[in-house]
Amino acid sequence: MRLVDSHVHLDDAKFDADREQAIERALAAGVERMLAIGTGNGPPDLETAVRLADRYPLIYATIGVHPHDASKATAETWARLRELAAHPKVVAIGEIGLDYHYDLSPREVQRAIFEQQLAIAAESGKPIVIHTREAWDDTSAALRAHWQGPGIMHCFTGDEAQARQALDLGFHLSFGGVLTFPKADAVRQAARVTPEDRLLVETDCPYLAPVPHRGKRNEPAFLVETVRRLAEVRGSTPEEIAEITTQNFERLMAPVVI
Ligand SMILES: [Zn+2]
Ligand SMILES: [Zn+2]
Repeated sequence: MRLVDSHVHLDDAKFDADREQAIERALAAGVERMLAIGTGNGPPDLETAVRLADRYPLIYATIGVHPHDASKATAETWARLRELAAHPKVVAIGEIGLDYHYDLSPREVQRAIFEQQLAIAAESGKPIVIHTREAWDDTSAALRAHWQGPGIMHCFTGDEAQARQALDLGFHLSFGGVLTFPKADAVRQAARVTPEDRLLVETDCPYLAPVPHRGKRNEPAFLVETVRRLAEVRGSTPEEIAEITTQNFERLMAPVVI
């Protein structure tokens, strides 16, 4: 199997003790490439993923301000994001979006910062990676109004109706550990109806480890558990899921990723 983990936070301090080994275990499990999300602890540091991508050939990077950190963005943030968007291994802008579960930044600030980054992404010509939690209506409305390009709904945990809306907007749906959770029937139904050419898989490590690792620190090697479950759900094989999700990632992130 050759796999792509479409969403990792390998910069997280939880990997400080064994980052190299986690990458080795990922490779041993067939995870050949990863997309490191560059939101880190928020501005002013926008380069957490770029540093990893510069160091490891198998890692690609995103840049962006997470909705949690929306309050930390300044005029300098936008200038720096525009510069970094030209980095040869920056393949997408993200994770950006809205999070009304934690409300770590005021909602109107989150919306303004989200729209600002949609504009930067449009200028850059690169896809976006969306984080949305308890904010589906506002997220999809902002995308309908301000976004025309491709993108990824990361850690998709919506139901079939939301999946169809995201697909209509042109998005890929990336499924993570939640797909393996016993109560996640609605998510599995969304995964069942997603067209083959819009599927992606991710760990979102160190968060949301799939069963049987649930509750532990997640890492890219655990992606295989989600791939197995996704194959069951779709009446496919893990090898087939690996192949289509890898091809989808390559197509979405072309010409940077080949
Ligand atoms: Zn997220
Ligand atoms: Zn994330």
